[in-house]
Amino acid sequence: MATRTACIAANWKMYKTVGEAVEFVRKLREKIETFDDREVVIAPPFTSLYALKDLVKGAGISLAGQNCHWEEKGAFTGEISPVMLKDVGCSYTIVGHSERRQYFGENDEDINKKLKALIKVGIKPIFCIGEKLEEREAGKTFDVVKTQLDGGLKDLDSVDIAKMVVAYEPVWAIGTGKTASPEQAQEVHAFIREHLSMLTNKNVANEVRILYGGSVKPSNVDSLMSEPDIDGALVGGASLEVDSFLRIIRFEA
Ligand code: PEP
Repeated sequence: MATRTACIAANWKMYKTVGEAVEFVRKLREKIETFDDREVVIAPPFTSLYALKDLVKGAGISLAGQNCHWEEKGAFTGEISPVMLKDVGCSYTIVGHSERRQYFGENDEDINKKLKALIKVGIKPIFCIGEKLEEREAGKTFDVVKTQLDGGLKDLDSVDIAKMVVAYEPVWAIGTGKTASPEQAQEVHAFIREHLSMLTNKNVANEVRILYGGSVKPSNVDSLMSEPDIDGALVGGASLEVDSFLRIIRFEA
């Protein structure tokens, strides 16, 4: 059984000005301890990345983008490339978040190009997948997750897939206060790992971290993290306050 370093990642979405982001990280730095069994990642809006680049150094915190374009540069008004994200200190980038799929029409093909572009420059993707409520109710959860994995990972080899973090985020649990139960989440995480094993091999599948996302809070993180295939959390709302995020970072499994 591989030992996977846990990963607690904050997705700040379209919240926090530069000043607010800097204040948050200063406060977090004062309180956070050094961990050797878990990693902390913050994905602020693009505008704050540069201001946080030096502030996170030496604090055990990594930076992530929330999205990217797949081209290196070009006439793509409003877009940001993986090279640019690397330049401002990102070691991770979220790809395929359900809000990107829902409001900006991202599909598995776009996501596949973004994953490849990030890997090319050495940024680890946090690849989001997850079913909608009607899909769960129709018994299609595994089919949806499998299709998203197959589409997103098309033509990527085992070496590339080993560099990824997968985030299972049931859409019905994001920002709704409804969390998947630890058992519901574990069932899908185990399925994802099994499918990754078919796409690559058992060793790679055992290495890939699979995060759970969807209304993770201080009150439910411990039970979620106690499940064998839940290797971390992607946290939206509860990552916006220092004490709440810190309690999630300090999960006890
Ligand atoms: C998210 O945005 O990825 C997320 C899981 O949000 P929340 O924690 O607010 O449900």
